[in-house]
Amino acid sequence: MSGCATQQEKSRTSEIPMSNKNDHPHEGTMPVLFLGHGSPMSAIEENSFVQGFRAIGSKLPRPKAILCVSAHWETRGTRVTAMTAPKTIHDFGGFPKELFEVQYPAPGSPWLAQETKDSVKETAIELDHQWGLDHGAWSVVKHLYPNADVPIIQMSLDVQRSPAEHFALAQELADLRGKGVLIVGSGNMVHNLGRVAFDKINTEDYAFDWAKTASEKMKQWVMDGDHASLCNYKNMGTELQLAIPTPEHFLPLLYTLGVKNEKDQISLFNDKAVGGALTMTSVFIHST
Ligand code: ZN
Repeated sequence: MSGCATQQEKSRTSEIPMSNKNDHPHEGTMPVLFLGHGSPMSAIEENSFVQGFRAIGSKLPRPKAILCVSAHWETRGTRVTAMTAPKTIHDFGGFPKELFEVQYPAPGSPWLAQETKDSVKETAIELDHQWGLDHGAWSVVKHLYPNADVPIIQMSLDVQRSPAEHFALAQELADLRGKGVLIVGSGNMVHNLGRVAFDKINTEDYAFDWAKTASEKMKQWVMDGDHASLCNYKNMGTELQLAIPTPEHFLPLLYTLGVKNEKDQISLFNDKAVGGALTMTSVFIHST
Protein backbone atom coordinates (compact mmCIF):
# COMPACT_ATOMS: atom_id res chain seq x y z
CA MET A 1 0.00 0.00 0.00
CA SER A 2 1.67 3.20 -1.00
CA GLY A 3 -0.92 5.54 -2.40
CA CYS A 4 -2.11 8.55 -0.48
CA ALA A 5 -4.38 10.07 -3.05
CA THR A 6 -7.73 11.72 -2.68
CA GLN A 7 -10.62 10.06 -4.48
CA GLN A 8 -10.20 12.57 -7.26
CA GLU A 9 -6.51 11.75 -7.63
CA LYS A 10 -7.29 8.07 -7.67
CA SER A 11 -9.81 8.36 -10.46
CA ARG A 12 -7.40 10.44 -12.51
CA THR A 13 -4.70 7.80 -12.30
CA SER A 14 -6.90 4.74 -12.04
CA GLU A 15 -5.10 2.86 -14.84
CA ILE A 16 -1.73 3.29 -13.11
CA PRO A 17 -1.10 1.36 -9.90
CA MET A 18 -0.12 4.05 -7.37
CA SER A 19 2.76 1.97 -6.13
CA ASN A 20 4.43 2.14 -9.52
CA LYS A 21 3.79 5.76 -10.30
CA ASN A 22 7.27 6.90 -9.37
CA ASP A 23 9.11 3.79 -10.34
CA HIS A 24 12.03 5.03 -12.39
CA PRO A 25 14.86 2.70 -11.48
CA HIS A 26 17.89 3.89 -13.36
CA GLU A 27 21.50 4.62 -12.66
CA GLY A 28 22.12 7.85 -10.86
CA THR A 29 18.84 8.18 -8.98
CA MET A 30 19.65 10.35 -5.99
CA PRO A 31 18.81 9.26 -2.44
CA VAL A 32 16.17 11.15 -0.45
CA LEU A 33 16.24 12.27 3.17
CA PHE A 34 13.89 13.26 5.94
CA LEU A 35 15.89 14.98 8.67
CA GLY A 36 14.52 15.43 12.18
CA HIS A 37 15.91 18.86 12.97
CA GLY A 38 14.82 19.57 16.57
CA SER A 39 16.54 22.50 18.25
CA PRO A 40 18.47 24.93 16.04
CA MET A 41 21.33 24.54 18.56
CA SER A 42 22.31 21.40 16.63
CA ALA A 43 23.77 23.82 14.11
CA ILE A 44 26.59 24.68 16.52
CA GLU A 45 26.59 21.86 19.08
CA GLU A 46 28.32 18.54 18.93
CA ASN A 47 25.81 15.78 19.67
CA SER A 48 24.78 12.33 18.48
CA PHE A 49 22.25 13.77 16.02
CA VAL A 50 24.88 15.90 14.32
CA GLN A 51 27.06 12.80 14.11
CA GLY A 52 24.16 10.97 12.48
CA PHE A 53 23.74 13.73 9.88
CA ARG A 54 27.47 13.65 9.11
CA ALA A 55 27.49 9.86 8.79
CA ILE A 56 24.64 10.01 6.25
CA GLY A 57 26.30 12.93 4.49
CA SER A 58 29.38 10.81 3.91
CA LYS A 59 27.26 8.18 2.08
CA LEU A 60 25.64 10.60 -0.34
CA PRO A 61 26.71 11.06 -3.93
CA ARG A 62 27.39 14.71 -4.65
CA PRO A 63 24.13 16.24 -5.87
CA LYS A 64 23.84 18.82 -8.61
CA ALA A 65 21.55 20.75 -6.26
CA ILE A 66 19.38 20.28 -3.15
CA LEU A 67 15.63 20.84 -2.87
CA CYS A 68 14.68 21.29 0.79
CA VAL A 69 11.12 21.31 2.13
CA SER A 70 11.37 22.84 5.60
CA ALA A 71 8.75 22.98 8.34
CA HIS A 72 9.55 26.66 8.75
CA TRP A 73 8.31 28.08 5.48
CA GLU A 74 4.52 28.11 5.18
CA THR A 75 2.77 30.11 2.46
CA ARG A 76 -0.49 30.31 0.57
CA GLY A 77 0.26 28.54 -2.67
CA THR A 78 3.54 26.71 -3.23
CA ARG A 79 6.74 28.71 -3.73
CA VAL A 80 10.35 27.84 -4.49
CA THR A 81 13.31 30.11 -3.81
CA ALA A 82 14.83 31.23 -7.09
CA MET A 83 17.56 33.68 -6.07
CA THR A 84 21.24 33.09 -6.83
CA ALA A 85 22.41 33.84 -3.27
CA PRO A 86 19.82 32.91 -0.60
CA LYS A 87 20.35 34.66 2.72
CA THR A 88 20.67 32.74 5.97
CA ILE A 89 17.48 33.41 7.95
CA HIS A 90 17.68 33.29 11.77
CA ASP A 91 14.01 32.56 12.33
CA PHE A 92 14.03 31.94 16.09
CA GLY A 93 14.45 33.79 19.36
CA GLY A 94 16.06 33.22 22.74
CA PHE A 95 19.20 31.49 21.54
CA PRO A 96 22.86 32.52 22.03
CA LYS A 97 24.47 35.18 19.87
CA GLU A 98 26.75 32.53 18.37
CA LEU A 99 23.75 30.89 16.70
CA PHE A 100 22.64 34.19 15.16
CA GLU A 101 26.11 34.58 13.70
CA VAL A 102 25.96 31.34 11.74
CA GLN A 103 25.96 31.90 8.00
CA TYR A 104 25.37 29.17 5.43
CA PRO A 105 26.35 30.85 2.17
CA ALA A 106 25.47 28.03 -0.25
CA PRO A 107 24.45 29.33 -3.66
CA GLY A 108 20.87 29.17 -4.85
CA SER A 109 19.85 27.37 -8.02
CA PRO A 110 17.60 29.27 -10.43
CA TRP A 111 17.96 26.17 -12.64
CA LEU A 112 16.40 23.88 -10.02
CA ALA A 113 13.72 26.45 -9.18
CA GLN A 114 12.61 26.46 -12.82
CA GLU A 115 13.01 22.68 -13.12
CA THR A 116 10.78 22.22 -10.05
CA LYS A 117 8.18 24.62 -11.42
CA ASP A 118 8.20 22.75 -14.75
CA SER A 119 7.90 19.33 -13.04
CA VAL A 120 4.66 20.18 -11.26
CA LYS A 121 1.60 20.15 -13.46
CA GLU A 122 -1.25 20.19 -10.95
CA THR A 123 -0.53 23.65 -9.54
CA ALA A 124 1.43 26.74 -10.53
CA ILE A 125 4.59 26.95 -8.43
CA GLU A 126 5.68 30.53 -7.83
CA LEU A 127 9.31 31.59 -8.04
CA ASP A 128 10.27 33.45 -4.87
CA HIS A 129 13.00 36.07 -4.48
CA GLN A 130 12.33 37.09 -0.86
CA TRP A 131 12.89 34.06 1.36
CA GLY A 132 16.29 32.39 1.65
CA LEU A 133 17.37 29.51 3.88
CA ASP A 134 15.52 29.14 7.18
CA HIS A 135 16.95 27.18 10.09
CA GLY A 136 14.95 24.08 9.14
CA ALA A 137 17.21 23.95 6.09
CA TRP A 138 20.60 25.34 7.10
CA SER A 139 20.85 23.93 10.63
CA VAL A 140 20.86 20.39 9.23
CA VAL A 141 22.12 20.69 5.64
CA LYS A 142 25.28 22.34 6.97
CA HIS A 143 26.22 18.98 8.51
CA LEU A 144 25.79 17.20 5.17
CA TYR A 145 27.74 19.80 3.16
CA PRO A 146 29.81 21.88 5.60
CA ASN A 147 31.56 23.74 2.80
CA ALA A 148 28.24 25.23 1.61
CA ASP A 149 29.25 24.43 -1.95
CA VAL A 150 26.14 22.58 -3.18
CA PRO A 151 23.43 24.86 -4.61
CA ILE A 152 20.20 24.71 -2.62
CA ILE A 153 16.63 25.89 -2.96
CA GLN A 154 13.67 25.68 -0.61
CA MET A 155 10.09 24.76 -1.41
CA SER A 156 7.32 26.09 0.83
CA LEU A 157 4.40 24.30 2.44
CA ASP A 158 1.06 25.51 1.10
CA VAL A 159 -1.13 25.89 4.20
CA GLN A 160 -4.27 25.28 2.14
CA ARG A 161 -3.34 21.70 1.20
CA SER A 162 -4.42 18.53 2.99
CA PRO A 163 -1.76 15.91 3.79
CA ALA A 164 -2.95 13.81 0.81
CA GLU A 165 -2.61 16.85 -1.44
CA HIS A 166 0.93 17.47 -0.20
CA PHE A 167 1.74 13.83 -0.93
CA ALA A 168 0.32 14.11 -4.45
CA LEU A 169 2.41 17.22 -5.09
CA ALA A 170 5.51 15.44 -3.81
CA GLN A 171 4.96 12.61 -6.29
CA GLU A 172 5.36 15.10 -9.11
CA LEU A 173 8.89 15.85 -7.89
CA ALA A 174 10.12 12.27 -8.18
CA ASP A 175 11.83 12.69 -11.55
CA LEU A 176 14.15 15.33 -10.09
CA ARG A 177 16.02 12.50 -8.37
CA GLY A 178 17.21 11.32 -11.78
CA LYS A 179 18.52 14.81 -12.56
CA GLY A 180 21.00 14.87 -9.71
CA VAL A 181 18.71 16.54 -7.18
CA LEU A 182 18.84 15.60 -3.51
CA ILE A 183 15.38 16.07 -2.00
CA VAL A 184 15.42 16.76 1.75
CA GLY A 185 12.38 17.06 4.01
CA SER A 186 13.21 18.77 7.31
CA GLY A 187 10.84 18.60 10.27
CA ASN A 188 10.08 16.23 13.13
CA MET A 189 7.70 13.27 13.23
CA VAL A 190 6.71 13.86 16.85
CA HIS A 191 6.73 17.60 17.59
CA ASN A 192 4.71 19.05 20.45
CA LEU A 193 6.66 21.98 21.89
CA GLY A 194 3.89 22.79 24.38
CA ARG A 195 4.43 19.44 26.08
CA VAL A 196 8.23 19.31 26.11
CA ALA A 197 9.61 18.36 29.54
CA PHE A 198 12.46 20.84 29.78
CA ASP A 199 13.64 19.24 33.04
CA LYS A 200 14.26 16.04 31.04
CA ILE A 201 15.77 17.69 27.99
CA ASN A 202 19.18 16.12 28.61
CA THR A 203 17.81 12.68 29.49
CA GLU A 204 18.81 10.33 26.66
CA ASP A 205 15.89 9.16 24.49
CA TYR A 206 13.18 10.35 26.88
CA ALA A 207 9.65 10.01 25.43
CA PHE A 208 6.22 10.23 27.01
CA ASP A 209 4.10 7.12 26.46
CA TRP A 210 1.90 8.81 23.86
CA ALA A 211 4.99 10.02 21.99
CA LYS A 212 6.45 6.51 22.02
CA THR A 213 3.22 5.01 20.69
CA ALA A 214 2.86 7.67 17.98
CA SER A 215 6.49 7.30 16.98
CA GLU A 216 6.23 3.50 16.71
CA LYS A 217 3.09 3.75 14.59
CA MET A 218 4.57 6.35 12.27
CA LYS A 219 7.78 4.38 11.82
CA GLN A 220 5.81 1.26 10.99
CA TRP A 221 3.79 3.13 8.36
CA VAL A 222 6.95 4.62 6.91
CA MET A 223 8.66 1.22 6.65
CA ASP A 224 5.51 -0.49 5.30
CA GLY A 225 4.85 2.23 2.72
CA ASP A 226 1.45 2.80 4.33
CA HIS A 227 1.22 6.38 3.18
CA ALA A 228 -2.57 6.43 3.44
CA SER A 229 -2.38 5.97 7.22
CA LEU A 230 0.27 8.69 7.47
CA CYS A 231 -1.88 11.09 5.45
CA ASN A 232 -4.84 10.21 7.65
CA TYR A 233 -2.94 10.81 10.93
CA LYS A 234 -5.68 13.07 12.33
CA ASN A 235 -8.01 10.07 12.53
CA MET A 236 -5.46 7.59 13.86
CA GLY A 237 -5.94 8.11 17.60
CA THR A 238 -5.13 10.48 20.45
CA GLU A 239 -1.41 9.68 20.42
CA LEU A 240 -1.06 10.86 16.83
CA GLN A 241 -3.08 13.99 17.57
CA LEU A 242 -0.74 14.79 20.46
CA ALA A 243 2.33 14.05 18.35
CA ILE A 244 1.18 16.28 15.49
CA PRO A 245 -0.74 19.20 17.06
CA THR A 246 0.05 21.32 13.99
CA PRO A 247 1.04 19.82 10.64
CA GLU A 248 4.12 21.80 9.57
CA HIS A 249 6.83 19.60 11.15
CA PHE A 250 5.15 16.41 9.94
CA LEU A 251 4.41 17.40 6.32
CA PRO A 252 8.04 17.45 5.10
CA LEU A 253 8.05 13.69 5.76
CA LEU A 254 5.36 13.30 3.09
CA TYR A 255 7.58 15.06 0.55
CA THR A 256 10.35 12.57 1.32
CA LEU A 257 8.06 9.55 1.01
CA GLY A 258 6.22 10.91 -2.04
CA VAL A 259 9.34 10.62 -4.21
CA LYS A 260 10.18 7.08 -3.11
CA ASN A 261 9.86 4.26 -5.64
CA GLU A 262 9.35 0.52 -5.27
CA LYS A 263 13.02 -0.31 -5.80
CA ASP A 264 14.23 1.95 -3.01
CA GLN A 265 15.57 0.80 0.30
CA ILE A 266 14.52 2.70 3.36
CA SER A 267 16.22 2.99 6.72
CA LEU A 268 15.94 5.09 9.86
CA PHE A 269 18.64 6.92 11.79
CA ASN A 270 18.82 9.38 14.71
CA ASP A 271 15.85 7.43 16.02
CA LYS A 272 15.64 8.99 19.48
CA ALA A 273 13.24 11.16 21.46
CA VAL A 274 14.10 14.46 23.14
CA GLY A 275 12.32 16.03 26.12
CA GLY A 276 9.40 13.59 26.01
CA ALA A 277 7.54 15.26 23.15
CA LEU A 278 9.93 15.42 20.18
CA THR A 279 11.51 12.73 18.05
CA MET A 280 14.60 13.23 15.90
CA THR A 281 13.87 10.11 13.83
CA SER A 282 15.24 10.61 10.32
CA VAL A 283 14.74 8.64 7.12
CA PHE A 284 17.26 7.63 4.46
CA ILE A 285 15.87 6.39 1.14
CA HIS A 286 18.21 5.12 -1.54
CA SER A 287 18.24 3.02 -4.68
CA THR A 288 19.28 -0.60 -4.52
ZN1 ZN B 1 11.51 23.22 13.59
